[in-house]
Amino acid sequence: MVKEKEKGNLVRAEIERLIAVGDLKGLLYKAAELHGHLCGHMAYGVKAGYIAMRELCLKSQGMEEVIAIIETNNCFSDGVQMVTGCSFGNNALIYRDFGKTAVTVAKRDGTAIRMALNPVFEDRRKDKYPEAYKLFDKIVAKREKPTPEEHERLMQLFAELSIAELEEPADEMFITKRLKIVVPEYAPMFDSVRCSICDENVMKSRAVAENGQYFCFPCYNQGYYQMDGSGISYEEEKIDQDEGISGGANADEE
Ligand SMILES: [Zn+2]
Ligand SMILES: [Zn+2]
Repeated sequence: MVKEKEKGNLVRAEIERLIAVGDLKGLLYKAAELHGHLCGHMAYGVKAGYIAMRELCLKSQGMEEVIAIIETNNCFSDGVQMVTGCSFGNNALIYRDFGKTAVTVAKRDGTAIRMALNPVFEDRRKDKYPEAYKLFDKIVAKREKPTPEEHERLMQLFAELSIAELEEPADEMFITKRLKIVVPEYAPMFDSVRCSICDENVMKSRAVAENGQYFCFPCYNQGYYQMDGSGISYEEEKIDQDEGISGGANADEE
């Protein structure tokens, strides 16, 4: 089995199998390996990814044959990533900073399906799971320190909720549209250049060229884009590169 997997194209076999047999719960647990916990929005991402893979008859090897355009960086996106195989690292995940729980999954010929979490469905959740929402509000939204019991209870409620929600009908869960889109080009390959100050390699498209030398953004004190919990923002402040614990990351790698 390991030898077969080493061929490379079978590493997603288990996920493809779960999609083929319609095992949503199995897919949910797979996604939780990436996400770290079970929760409702991840379940919706799993379901959206599953529907797209089935409807478009897709298989993914993470080579941009399937593209997912995701409009949020909440828990939903991890469900989508695991099931579609479209990730940040393989360039098949395109992030649009719209703040919507929605995804468009496309084939390279542009045949696509967009699924957005139905607001009516989403609004119903608070009445459906009052205890989970009360704890969520306290622990996650207001960042109030929970007791260990409260934390455990929230995780348990989230897990139960995520499994229950998977069974909800897709036509109530999502507003779904079939569409034809212009699929972005395959990710370009960029040469690396060496930063004249820190001596690290940097993608040429991200280096500042000056007087025949190249500089990375931090060394040049150039602003940069950052994606975090608030979405994408432009950061202008200087990064103090010496702030990090020196030698930490590199030492670990060896
Ligand atoms: Zn989550
Ligand atoms: Zn540098």
